[in-house]
Amino acid sequence: MIPNNFEYIRANSVQEALQLLSQKGDGARLLAGGHSLIPAMKLRLNAPETVIDISGIQELASIRRDGDRLHIGALVTHRTVETSDEVKSSCPVLSEAAALIGDPLVRNRGTIGGSLAHCDPAADYPALTLCLGAEIEATGPSGSRTIAADDFFVGMFETALQSGEMITRVTFPVLGKGTGAAYEKFSHPASRFAVVGVAAMVTLDGGGNCNSVRVAITGAGPSVFRATKVEQALTG
Ligand SMILES: Cc1cc2nc3c(=O)[nH]c(=O)nc-3n(C[C@H](O)[C@H](O)[C@H](O)COP(=O)(O)OP(=O)(O)OC[C@H]3O[C@@H](n4cnc5c(N)ncnc54)[C@H](O)[C@@H]3O)c2cc1C
Repeated sequence: MIPNNFEYIRANSVQEALQLLSQKGDGARLLAGGHSLIPAMKLRLNAPETVIDISGIQELASIRRDGDRLHIGALVTHRTVETSDEVKSSCPVLSEAAALIGDPLVRNRGTIGGSLAHCDPAADYPALTLCLGAEIEATGPSGSRTIAADDFFVGMFETALQSGEMITRVTFPVLGKGTGAAYEKFSHPASRFAVVGVAAMVTLDGGGNCNSVRVAITGAGPSVFRATKVEQALTG
């Protein structure tokens, strides 16, 4: 349970983190909350030569609502998502789901950006992100790009992030009138990771029928996925 030796560097801005990533190459890993990376290093499943600590970058730690969009910085912790009044009023299912992650220690340190980048097949946020049709902002040496959640989760521990890129924020839709969302998970009793977790978002038309439905499932496959047949069966 002792990691390989590694170089530790603290980055104070996104710019500095990106420079370090390009300088150190594929042997470098970003460290956010450390609640997935450190256990993997201790088990020697991951052995980075350089760890770039981004946890102090303030510009990535805020939540902001802009009209019908809710922007959550990559370094916002699970606990902040759980307790934020802005999140509770704009997209309450996110707060409800964050409250189900791990235990207080994990929620106090773990971040939304770290969870999405890690792409654990049993993690909670990927299901929420996919179900809600969120957008992930990836920033690299040549600027920022937006990746739709539908294109972001590529496989087990594999995302659409390219070498040298980092997640800088995640944007969710503010749930309007007629739209509701829920997340249910059957948790592992020890870790509280999802044995299976299902996120659903439904929009009703004026007559009470399902106008649109999105359902995303975590824990039951190599990566999070949408239950498209369920969505089709419920629509209308
Ligand atoms: C006991 C325990 C129980 C847990 N239970 C749950 C649970 O019930 N549900 C759940 O969903 N998760 C659970 N987790 C995982 C937890 O949510 C982690 O915090 C999360 O998966 C990773 O976030 P982090 O900030 O800790 O990332 P880190 O561990 O710091 O990093 C994880 C990976 O993401 C990369 N990374 C981090 N930030 C960025 C970024 N901004 N851009 C690009 N790459 C980045 C790192 O380089 C690393 O490869 C649990 C963890 C533990 C230890």
